[in-house]
Amino acid sequence: MKIKQRLLPHHKFQVLTWGDGGKDFVRVFRSCWKQLPLRSRRSILAHWKKAPIPFPTFELSNMWGDSEVSFAQVGWNGMKLRFSAADFAVLPDRIAQWIIAHELAHVYQKAIGRSPGGDSEFENETDADKIAEDWGFEKRPMTMLKLLTQNRKVSVEDAGKRIVEMGLA
Ligand SMILES: [Zn+2]
Repeated sequence: MKIKQRLLPHHKFQVLTWGDGGKDFVRVFRSCWKQLPLRSRRSILAHWKKAPIPFPTFELSNMWGDSEVSFAQVGWNGMKLRFSAADFAVLPDRIAQWIIAHELAHVYQKAIGRSPGGDSEFENETDADKIAEDWGFEKRPMTMLKLLTQNRKVSVEDAGKRIVEMGLA
């Protein structure tokens, strides 16, 4: 089932979701958003509001090609954000928040004219991580999740549970 939900309380942006899990996603997205400094939020909002209709778009589904290998993706100059519904349905909140913050950091890079955030894909990713860390998010649980799920030895769901048990998220 395809549904649209308001993503942020005071803005008309909507997230399009297929299947369950959308409610939690909105809750986690909002708690992540609230943690961003007001100045950063304003930069991102100004950037999004420059976009022609129907952008920006937000999608929580597994209808996009790379959703098998990535948790999320930002495209079209920060105007198109996609999140993997299957993963967000099982990820611990703190890891989900890290991923959202990292993607918002990519939007922020564009909003402030620092895109790409470096001379290579690696530097760009490191810069996005640094922005998310400056906003107060912690990368460590995500790093642990990546280690545990390497080569698909452990499912994302089981890895998430273990990380919670370890007290990391
Ligand atoms: Zn990235």
